[in-house]
Amino acid sequence: MEQATSVKTEQAFQLADRVNRISVSPTMAVLQEAERYKAQGVDVADFGPGEPDFPTPEHIKRGAIKALEENRTKYTATPGIAPLRQAICDWHAKQLGSSYQPAECIVTVGGKHAIFNVVCSLINAGDEVVIPAPYWVSYPDIVKYAGGKPVFIPTRADDGFVLRAADLEKAITPRTRIVIINSPSNPTGAVIPPDEFAKLLEVCRRHGVWLLSDECYSHFVYGDARPFSVASLPDAKSGIIIAGSFSKTFAMTGWRLGYVLGPPQLIGAITKLQSQSTSNATSIVQYAALEALRGPMDSVSAMLAEYARRRERILAGLRAIPGITCNAPLGAFYVFPNISAHLNADMPSDTVAAKQLLEREYVAVVPGEAFGAPGYLRISYATSIDRIDEGLRRLNHFFGSAK
Ligand code: PLP
Repeated sequence: MEQATSVKTEQAFQLADRVNRISVSPTMAVLQEAERYKAQGVDVADFGPGEPDFPTPEHIKRGAIKALEENRTKYTATPGIAPLRQAICDWHAKQLGSSYQPAECIVTVGGKHAIFNVVCSLINAGDEVVIPAPYWVSYPDIVKYAGGKPVFIPTRADDGFVLRAADLEKAITPRTRIVIINSPSNPTGAVIPPDEFAKLLEVCRRHGVWLLSDECYSHFVYGDARPFSVASLPDAKSGIIIAGSFSKTFAMTGWRLGYVLGPPQLIGAITKLQSQSTSNATSIVQYAALEALRGPMDSVSAMLAEYARRRERILAGLRAIPGITCNAPLGAFYVFPNISAHLNADMPSDTVAAKQLLEREYVAVVPGEAFGAPGYLRISYATSIDRIDEGLRRLNHFFGSAK
């Protein structure tokens, strides 16, 4: 009798191959562990979050409240309300120099959903997707979910973690369908220079491969750099797909809103997929997003100025720790120090280092292995200067005593 019950239970939990092929996002796993400590009242120096610590700007919040008051709470068209699709095209043209029309735009439930929809609409079993490493954790799993094969190209710290066209050329095979490029990059903060982007696009076009550009951090670039989109290059629409997100630019991670810009046939395919899955993005969020795009951009500049200040602080602090080397990130809000000089028999990997850091010093970081970069840690500086100073103090103590 007991045996029959256990067999039944096993059958009930037999999962689909497509789900068994993927794993829970490792960044989420770290966040959860840090949350567990915080819930116990522990003072965690939390360098884990991949999200702004700023609140959503007032005018955007008011947009959502107004939409609620006006009862804009019904289904919308699957690809999004017409004024938002237009506003995304207008904003992208003004900010990033592209020239898309609403038929080339679909509103999605976040940037991750945008990438998921693109990959699921284009990839057949066994198709290859080229991903430069270090990479954002979700790319390989989304590709695997779709039945495709991630093909990684290592990039080098001493070359600024920039994907080079010559390396891309070597990685392309007859099965390659997409190259995913994320500039500024999570986790390295690398920014691909426009002339290298042009070369990468030329390689993609010559081989009939899509260049999927993830512009999640487009507006967070430091120094003299300006936000750049590959879609601003001459004749750029051909061969390019843009995945955009409201999450970081407008401090709207919890609202879940993103978009895809690409050829109408692809937008049509994604609309079909979305019509059978999420349907439209939340109606009131779409109206709030209209305010984000039509309103002032000063909150974005204010966040960037604060990130720039924190970047200086964390970089100087990390570089002062013996044995740690760290590139200056050119964009996004992460630093990616190399800690391999500190690895030894007691601390054989960055994953063990991240675990020990949390357990011994209550510092939350994400191990580099999660991003395909063993020997590194990802540290988010989307946290206050005070918390950065406290975290640095603990990191100093940890790596000082770990020797
Ligand atoms: N792309 C990159 C590189 C990211 O880091 C993230 C979020 O962390 C996303 C896309 C997706 O963001 P969202 O789904 O919140 O729009």
